[in-house]
Amino acid sequence: MNPHARGFFLASGTAPALGADAASTREHSGVRAIGPVSVSVRERTLHPVGPQLEVVLGDIVTESVDAIVNAANPSLLGGGGVDGAVHRAAGPQLLAACRELGGCAFGDAKATRGFNLPARYVIHTVGPVWQGGRAGEARLLANCYRRCLEVADEIGAATIAFPAISTGAYGYPANDATHIAVGTVRGTLSSVQSVRFVCFDAAVHACYEREITT
Ligand code: ADP
Repeated sequence: MNPHARGFFLASGTAPALGADAASTREHSGVRAIGPVSVSVRERTLHPVGPQLEVVLGDIVTESVDAIVNAANPSLLGGGGVDGAVHRAAGPQLLAACRELGGCAFGDAKATRGFNLPARYVIHTVGPVWQGGRAGEARLLANCYRRCLEVADEIGAATIAFPAISTGAYGYPANDATHIAVGTVRGTLSSVQSVRFVCFDAAVHACYEREITT
């Protein structure tokens, strides 16, 4: 194998993201590498073209994906909307697992198991409270989507479902929130292969449909 071809393999997503040192060592020691270099690091598959995006109407707790995202509050101890539905469906073990996490900052994300949910994991994120748009809400909302994808990579979740973070009790206008959601997911490099935007109402669904077809 020509070690100079590593760039191609990285871009096409079939080579380890780490392990370049092993290949360089072979190159510089004068030993000609004739097969794939064996490395002991975890392999990652990057998807430079981004994940497949889908928009669906429904209840996120029924999604059979690797991870569903919960629109939580900073305490991570439960609430209304998506948060309430996720805790009810996952069962009381979820609350116990959330207590261990010690809360979560706005724009950040943390994972737990999914317990009784069909999804293996829950990624809890805290969206911004809408205050008119001049309090850094857009940056914080984008951070939520980016951090959720980072956490998905950390736990090895390749399929993920998002609710429309902040568009319920936190009051973020759905038009703007869905624009940020789709733009950020498209613009974030990760190993996630499929993203489902799960909407509870037709108006939010229509916003997403507009976004993903433009
Ligand atoms: P936030 O506090 O971040 O605004 P909410 O849970 O109040 O979170 O609402 C976020 C979005 O999730 C809203 O668009 C709301 O209609 C929607 N939603 C509420 N329950 C569910 C559910 N079970 N599945 C999917 N979306 C939901």
